[in-house]
Amino acid sequence: MLPPEVTVYEVGPRDGLQNESRVIETDIKVEFIRRLVAAGLPAVEATSFVHPARVPQLADADAVAAALQPDLQSHRLPMLVPNERGLERALSAGAREVAVFLSATESFAQANLGTDLAGQRVMAAPVIGRALAEGLRVRGYISMCWGDPWEGDVRHGAAADVALFLLEQGVHEISLGDTIGVATAAQVRSLLRAARSAGVQSAATAVHFHDTYGQAVANVLAALDEGVTVVDSAAGGLGGCPFALSATGNLATEDLLWCLHQQGVRTGVDLDAVVQTTTWFAAATGVAPQSRAYAALAHRLAQPKEDQSSD
Ligand code: MG
Repeated sequence: MLPPEVTVYEVGPRDGLQNESRVIETDIKVEFIRRLVAAGLPAVEATSFVHPARVPQLADADAVAAALQPDLQSHRLPMLVPNERGLERALSAGAREVAVFLSATESFAQANLGTDLAGQRVMAAPVIGRALAEGLRVRGYISMCWGDPWEGDVRHGAAADVALFLLEQGVHEISLGDTIGVATAAQVRSLLRAARSAGVQSAATAVHFHDTYGQAVANVLAALDEGVTVVDSAAGGLGGCPFALSATGNLATEDLLWCLHQQGVRTGVDLDAVVQTTTWFAAATGVAPQSRAYAALAHRLAQPKEDQSSD
């Protein structure tokens, strides 16, 4: 069973660029975000207020946010905040929506946040509380929900515990991340069912898949069948994960949209416009797109109209 409509949450400019080895110029990032918004993507995660030394790719977060000032009132442009300092920067930048990130596993909490499972709650609670008090929409990411490069398989209860904590803190949405892309459809179903049994509502749950083993689209379909209606993806399949070296890119927005639109699921997004955006971005930066749907559609869009009848 597919829902009639899915919200596609675009993570390319943040999650994607954070994990690309080359640093992209600020004005190209801003143009990329604006083109994605113009393509109809309802939420485009714009940047991250992490420490510049930790993620040099996003060291220009303040400049990106400043350039997007005119767009912040009319469009959802969430920004990632790791701590209270990050939230301060986001508030100064006029952010109306922020995201915090926690880990389902002890090992990744240590690697990514420098704390343990209890410590990450202590870090996140005041950030969420302050953001909500300021009237912001808050999303909570949970990394390594299905597998962890150091710990292997992750028990479903680990992700469900963190999800419940975040929802109790008042976040509007959680995003369950398969950060290293090891999940398969049956595991997606069983985690979502376990989370639901524990009290996590499907309506507040997004999914975030990586296509390491080519399973991301299949995993999305399993999640939609379990009641999820918000899916994260990155234009051109940008990204990876510097703390999990086995991970390849995020699920490509083009692959997701092709799958959904061909089955009659509405997204409000213009797939051709996303393809054209990825083509522009690749030409501007030299970052090669990682998406089969992109490759097929870019080839098709490049053909003269009269040739397309013979496809
Ligand atoms: Mg990702």
